[in-house]
Amino acid sequence: MTTNQSVMTSLAQPYLEGLTQQVLRYQQCTACSRAQTFAHDACQFCGAEALVWHNSTGRGHVHAVTVVGRAPSDAFRALAPYTLVVVTLEEGARLMGHATPGVKIGDAVTAIFFKHLDQTLVRFEPIG
Ligand SMILES: [Zn+2]
Repeated sequence: MTTNQSVMTSLAQPYLEGLTQQVLRYQQCTACSRAQTFAHDACQFCGAEALVWHNSTGRGHVHAVTVVGRAPSDAFRALAPYTLVVVTLEEGARLMGHATPGVKIGDAVTAIFFKHLDQTLVRFEPIG
């Protein structure tokens, strides 16, 4: 598998632009209609290259939770310890993001956005 950073960046561009507008975007395959998260040039399920971008509602359910005690880089050290989740969006795509501490697998969550340094990041918080 060959990847390079500039290709990955341009593939993710619609997603990254969405973040700055506080919208989560995902790709949907027009061949098999399944949804996936950003930065693929082909469908991860059927291999078709017929992918279109959609805006997500930002709502979904927690699929997995991790608490990060030691930040992987200086940029995240100020946030540690923090909670990361993998969320299955209503549209079916899975996405990793920050989360409100204490969220549990199966919780209904919605995405909010926050600025950290020069990045817009996603944080999922429980609904209701
Ligand atoms: Zn497909």
